[in-house]
Amino acid sequence: MSEHSPGTNRLRSAPPLIFESGSPGRSGFFWPEEETRITDRIPGVLLREDIPGFPELGELEVLRHFTRLSHLNFAIESQFYPLGSCTMKYNPKINEVVARLPGFSMLHPLAPAELIQGALELLHHLELMLAEISGMDHITLQPAAGAQGELTGLMVIRAYLERQGNPRRKIVVPDTAHGTNPASSTLCGYSVIQVSSNSRGIIEAAKVDEVMSEDVAALMITNPNTLGLFEKNIQAIADVVHKKGGLVYLDGANLNALMGLAKPGDMGVDVLHINLHKTFSTPHGGGGPGAGPVGVKAFLQDYLPIPRIVRKDGHFDLEEDLPNSVGRVRSFFGNFGILARAYTYIISLGSDGLEETSRMALLNANYLRKKLEGTFHLPYTEPCMHECVFTDRLQQKYGVTTLDIAKRLLDYGFHPPTIYFPLVVAGALMIEPTETENRETLDAFVEAMISIAREAKENPTLVKGAPYSTPVGRLDETRAARKPVLRWEPIIKADRAQRLASAKD
Ligand SMILES: *Cc1c(COP(=O)(O)O)cnc(C)c1O
Repeated sequence: MSEHSPGTNRLRSAPPLIFESGSPGRSGFFWPEEETRITDRIPGVLLREDIPGFPELGELEVLRHFTRLSHLNFAIESQFYPLGSCTMKYNPKINEVVARLPGFSMLHPLAPAELIQGALELLHHLELMLAEISGMDHITLQPAAGAQGELTGLMVIRAYLERQGNPRRKIVVPDTAHGTNPASSTLCGYSVIQVSSNSRGIIEAAKVDEVMSEDVAALMITNPNTLGLFEKNIQAIADVVHKKGGLVYLDGANLNALMGLAKPGDMGVDVLHINLHKTFSTPHGGGGPGAGPVGVKAFLQDYLPIPRIVRKDGHFDLEEDLPNSVGRVRSFFGNFGILARAYTYIISLGSDGLEETSRMALLNANYLRKKLEGTFHLPYTEPCMHECVFTDRLQQKYGVTTLDIAKRLLDYGFHPPTIYFPLVVAGALMIEPTETENRETLDAFVEAMISIAREAKENPTLVKGAPYSTPVGRLDETRAARKPVLRWEPIIKADRAQRLASAKD
């Protein structure tokens, strides 16, 4: 067993379910006599006599229960989280302060424009800043995630092409693409043609030319791509697509390598989405909320979702009457709290700060790439952008795989990188350190990875049995997601028994 352990170590004794805790009559809160009469005003039929099995606990018990549960979560505030493509950077707390200002957080979403001028001004300025950063002409902030941004962008493309007389039927997507690209294309009624990356991990214009036809509505390209490599042929690729009347869609979920250094709008891109919950430091994970604003070039602006935020005589208003618009894609203004956080992040860094952020993200990723090269197989050896991809090829001869390495990292107190993605790399370990990590943390991670490589050689069984320091070991992840067992005492017992048995083998 390893001495290394993440913060979850102390949780190895399972806390009981909250429904099994407490004692009848115990309470953390007492109604003043006056207040109890509130119930007199509620019709009897709406009042419950009793809530069967409702736990009765003191304040400290409740606090401990939920604090313990929160420690089961792996968080950027406690540990390094190099999950490739996800940009798990630190989210500065000033963002939270601004998002919680009562003037923002207490606004009623149906309040008329004249009563929410400040909020509309924030949204308007965020649109302008994102347009500047990405090099696009117009932005909509409505989409609630990257994937919804993709769908929105494709709907815009479809609406535009339909007005030209033919919506076309196909979307070209590289083999390195995020799975949401083909999924969004399909959802928007298109079929997908895959184009292969070359031996250096990027797309060539000639390859796109081979599959390009008058029936292709758009190419969806990610830059930097999911291998962390810059698609340096993007301009030539865009020319090929445009020549056949298609549009170029850029998956800009990860803008962490580009801010202040390069603008997709200068690369021949017509439509893009940006993930505020990655690059622009709004918290994410666990399913949301997020924000996936979409940017377009001027010729597409009439197709953007309504309402559009417009400025007239120094006043902000909501424009609904746009006949070519694809319509609404999200209720109200999108995830306003997320937008307020991203606005704060951009304002507090300024343009120099954003550029510095990108430079640091590039430096950190390349630092890890050089430090781990040789210990782990690096399929693409050129300098990377914000992330780099290794494989388990050198460890496979000891029977140790990417999954084993990822699980073992937990014992060293690190969140594993993204694994087995992108699909074009067998046994991929996709590492994205982000700019918010210091050198000591990167060195500690490198040390852990080198140590695991040594263990793989000297004691592969140890690595294959990991993790040892977490509340549970390896679960059947599919079953765990579909049939979660929330009472975890028996899981831990069974898991321990299994680990003891396998240790005896
Ligand atoms: C994260 C990501 C997406 C999807 O974004 P969601 O907000 O999770 O829907 C799409 N493309 C790339 C390259 C990504 O990294």
